[in-house]
Amino acid sequence: MILVSMKEMLQIAMDGHYAVGQFNLNGLQWAQGILEAAEEEESPIILAASDRLVPFLGGYSVIAAMMRESVQEMGITVPVALHLDHGQSVDNCKRAIDAGFSSVMIDGSHHPIAENIAMTSEVTAYAHAYGVSVEAEVGTVGGMEDGLIGGIRYADPEECAALVKETGVDALAAALGSVHGPYQGEPVLGFAEMEQISKLVGIPLVLHGASGIPYDQLQRSIKLGHAKININTECIQAWTAAVRRTLEANPALYDPRSILTPGTAAIKETVRGKIREFGSAGKAFCGNR
Ligand SMILES: [Zn+2]
Repeated sequence: MILVSMKEMLQIAMDGHYAVGQFNLNGLQWAQGILEAAEEEESPIILAASDRLVPFLGGYSVIAAMMRESVQEMGITVPVALHLDHGQSVDNCKRAIDAGFSSVMIDGSHHPIAENIAMTSEVTAYAHAYGVSVEAEVGTVGGMEDGLIGGIRYADPEECAALVKETGVDALAAALGSVHGPYQGEPVLGFAEMEQISKLVGIPLVLHGASGIPYDQLQRSIKLGHAKININTECIQAWTAAVRRTLEANPALYDPRSILTPGTAAIKETVRGKIREFGSAGKAFCGNR
């Protein structure tokens, strides 16, 4: 299997006290920049397509084919998971799995907990039959989620424990103060709740909206059970700045390759820095494969 489930890589990361980065795809250049960084840093890696961006990216099957073929063509040897980020429905998760995604997130966090558990159970049963890993969410990440701007709602520890126990999910996003998109002021994460939830559920936790969270808070989150950290905004900002700089410095430039290549290089450098911060550099072959 060219694309692997994230179950094993996250379990190994949790045991080894580091985290694997999830980086979101915004086009082919993202795949290339992220994969090159992971290969050079010898790090396991998770590439994700946000469900709401799937039509923009060409559809589930195009994304899966792009990833499979890129891994092959680029001679990537580190473990790579292709993950559906914030899967909006059970059906969408099934479609992603059928297309070849090796991991999915079902985001039932906007529904009452009983409904969230029912949706997550259905996805888990379907996914596990194909060796595909599943992430679920409890609570609300602040900022933009599923195209909706909303406030932060802390995950309830008892709801987290019930969901994990009843669904057999592989990883849990317990919202504890993080925000999608840029932060206004210093992030305030609920570390006491984090410790409590991690002990209760015993599976790898996932930190959403990690762009802009300071280094020491990331390290503390990893210590308290986060084995997966999601980065999107920082890569987008680095890409945009590089492309803008290139265009402003050369107003006569019109060749797409010359305009976009500095963007890819900026994504690669951002991902490389995050891999080192998360401690996953050099871990690709430690128990993985
Ligand atoms: Zn998220």
